[in-house]
This record gives sequence, structure tokens and C-alpha cells, in this order.
Amino acid sequence: MAGPLRTEGPSRIEGMQPAPGVHVAITDRHGGVSAPPYGSRNLGGLVGDDPAAVRANREGVAAELGVRGVVFMRQVHSADVAYVSEPFGDDPPPLDGVFTSEPGLALASLGADCPAVLVADPVARLVGAAHSGRPGTEAGIATALVEAMAGKGAQPYRMVALIGPGACGRCYEVPADLRERVAAKVPETWSTTSWQTPALDLRAGIEAQLRAAGLNDVRHDARCTIESDELYSHRRQQPGGRFAGLIWLT
Ligand SMILES: [Zn+2]
Repeated sequence: MAGPLRTEGPSRIEGMQPAPGVHVAITDRHGGVSAPPYGSRNLGGLVGDDPAAVRANREGVAAELGVRGVVFMRQVHSADVAYVSEPFGDDPPPLDGVFTSEPGLALASLGADCPAVLVADPVARLVGAAHSGRPGTEAGIATALVEAMAGKGAQPYRMVALIGPGACGRCYEVPADLRERVAAKVPETWSTTSWQTPALDLRAGIEAQLRAAGLNDVRHDARCTIESDELYSHRRQQPGGRFAGLIWLT
């Protein structure tokens, strides 16, 4: 694994190449044109930011990554996955997972505390991206993505996954009954905040789901969105923007 690499200058995209021909990037708050409180590289279209700024930020990311297009979903905390061969355009369908075999087509999962799940089978030449916040983790979106990719020829044992930044298990406080309910489905999510109250560790839960689906190579960008001012966090700041985890083939 080469990287993680940090690009020079104002762009500040975390990039890495987890397998031959497979590229992953995590954007942050910097390098875009959005005004406060969205400053400056907000990629979320439904958070109240100026649509022209969001469009410019999205085009800037595509240009910087050198991809021909970026697929943005209308994320609704579901477990629904689709194969894509082109960007959706202005009215994307409600989905939380997409996958493709098209080189140069980046798949984006937007987040402000919800981890992106980025997976690839470098042999089958398939990449996928999912948005796995609390409801999506409970619903099993990461599992659904792996199964959908396996249905098109991917093999879980040779897949590599990166779980992106999110609210960490020491910060993501939830009511006790919610922790009970989520952990009943995904036991590894059970957590406690650093101040000893009920919490959820989504990243631990997603990793368990991926390993149960047959993956052996699960990596983390373990930055906590609540603790890192470099990233957008819904828990820390409202209104606010969205950053993206992206994956694509070359
Ligand atoms: Zn944290």
C-alpha cells in the first residue's frame, strides 16, 4: 500500500492506492469555494449551501482527481445498492451504495459523521462505495454492497476495503436504548464515550460486517469527524457541509 499521501497546496485530498489500479481519496473542508458556514469544499447538495458553489466544488474534485465523472447518490440511510456506468446528474435516485467496472468513474459517499465504505476487487476490476451511518449500518449497507458486487463476479476474499472517517466510538453518544437496539444487530458497535455514557462505534460494526461477508483486508481512515476540524461534522456544527470518500479504477 502506497500512502496515505497528502497532495501539496490548497487541495488537501488524502489519496492512496490500496491495490493496483484502484484509487481512493478522502476530501476535507479545504480547497473549495463555499462561504461560511460551509467553507470551503462542501460537496453536499442538500445542506443549504449555494448550488453553484457545490457544483464548482464537485467539478474541482473531479478535475483534481483526473476522473471523467463522479457519481453522487441521494443518500437516504438505506441498504439499497445499484450498478452505475455514468454519473446520475441533477436528480440522483435514493441509494446508499453504488459500484462500477468503468475506469475513470469515481464513486462518492458523502458524510459529515457517517463513514464511507470503499471496496474494490482489483482482479474482477470492480469498485464500490457505500454510505454507512447509524441507520445504514443497522440495515447492513456494507454487506449489501459486497453481495451486489459478488453478484457481478467479485470475490470477497480478494476484496480490499477502506472505512473512511466518521464519528468515533469514544465521541458518538447515543441514548441507551438506541445502543441496545443497534448492538442487538451488530454487536461490535457497542461502545462507551470517553465520559462514560452510551455510544456506538460504527467503524467497528462495519468492519465486522465486512469480515463476516468474507473480506480479509479491511483498512481504516480512523480520523474522528467530531474531533477533527479538518473534516465536516454534523454533530459538531450545524448547518455544515459534507466531505467525500471516493474510489475509482484506472
Ligand atoms: Zn472521536
